[in-house]
Amino acid sequence: MSTDMTARTGEVRGPAAEAAQGSAATPRTTGQQMDADWIPFDPNPSKPRFRPPPGAVDAHCHVFGPGDVFPWAPERKYTPCDAPKEKLYALRDFLGFERNVVVQATCHGNDNRALVDALLHSQGRARGVASVARGVSDAELRAMHEAGVRGTRFNFVRRLVDFTPREVLVEIAHRIAPLGWHVVVYFEAKDLPELRDFFTALPTVVVVDHMGRPDAGKPVDGPEFQRFVTLMREHPNVWSKVSCPERLSVSGPPGYDDVVPFARHLVETFPDRVLWGTDWPHPNMKSHMPDDGKLVDYVPRIAPTPELQRALLVDNPMRLYWNDARPT
Ligand SMILES: [Zn+2]
Repeated sequence: MSTDMTARTGEVRGPAAEAAQGSAATPRTTGQQMDADWIPFDPNPSKPRFRPPPGAVDAHCHVFGPGDVFPWAPERKYTPCDAPKEKLYALRDFLGFERNVVVQATCHGNDNRALVDALLHSQGRARGVASVARGVSDAELRAMHEAGVRGTRFNFVRRLVDFTPREVLVEIAHRIAPLGWHVVVYFEAKDLPELRDFFTALPTVVVVDHMGRPDAGKPVDGPEFQRFVTLMREHPNVWSKVSCPERLSVSGPPGYDDVVPFARHLVETFPDRVLWGTDWPHPNMKSHMPDDGKLVDYVPRIAPTPELQRALLVDNPMRLYWNDARPT
């Protein structure tokens, strides 16, 4: 039977409906057993009250496997549950989004096959951020571009990846720049001083994941977060994702109230350089699994006007990921 839930809209109440019909289990893993402390994604999120504007893009999400089709990378730091493209696209429709930007998950290392497969099965509604190795060929880069890849991700969070020398990353950045791709960087706030010169020397747009992971216990106008704000102010090629309150919050769900001021500050200060995404299926959450519907309801709190919402969810991601697309 088809696993495309969009074809069966009439009988679907939510992404869990498929599981409820007995055609698929709730989150599971194949290929290799998921980590004992792995928290699977919520198979039955709430319907958000906030309706995203037409054309909204979930600009940060992932696919995992399935592991028996797309094996996990030997060098991975975690083994997740399966989170295949069908589930991602069903969630997209359920939450009221039209497009996705799928970011390569570190459990797949530099093997982008699961990502590319997801893009190729999206009817043009997904674009991607790959993880590119030094030895990548021009033909491989072109094939990824054709599939919809528009960026590469450099991860500086040491618990997630092994160290890659800066000169290798610079070399990769110069390989992907002619394609019009950008670099996505993921790091902890405390590491920004050490990484800043590297970021500002990159020849592309630089998208910072999750606001550079600020410490939500510190003030928005304190020196640590202002260091990041200054980076954005001084470098118009630096963008930020304002997603993942569930990773940053100390006060916790459902409101993630302590993270709101950080995200809102960036949205209001740099309305044309911010992106938002669910981060489904929420890799490596240790404290709790967020309700994706509640995450969508977080958007109007950080982007309080329709203009800001449209910039955040439609105009900015379209400019960065679909700038070759004709208006529809
Ligand atoms: Zn993520």
